[in-house]
Amino acid sequence: MRKVVAPPGFRGYKPYGTRQGRTNHVDLLYEEYEAIKLADYDIMNQLEASQIMGVSRATFARVYESARRKIAKAMVETREIRSVFGDASLDNSWFMCDACDTRFNIPDKNTEHHCPLCKTENIHSIKE
Ligand SMILES: [Zn+2]
Repeated sequence: MRKVVAPPGFRGYKPYGTRQGRTNHVDLLYEEYEAIKLADYDIMNQLEASQIMGVSRATFARVYESARRKIAKAMVETREIRSVFGDASLDNSWFMCDACDTRFNIPDKNTEHHCPLCKTENIHSIKE
């Protein structure tokens, strides 16, 4: 299991301004998103990033490499990227709102379950 601090805030990415869209999308796993975030957005070295994700440096390098290849493939071949749960282990109980797509976590499971943004109770656990 690879620790992911926060889930990606999107379901996917779609290319635009392209004549033909491919039908096959690329599945980007949560842990791959996290690896890109830690290494290329937070500018951590691979040792620090692997410790945050709770994996060996070699595993981190593999996940990171896989993430980069998928993103490159999506760009070059104008494919959609979908975010897929994969092997991730999320720190808290993360939920997604079915109405407005907001991601949020509920630290205390005994509190009322609703979307903090639109207040609907149509929410589901991201892990499902
Ligand atoms: Zn909502």
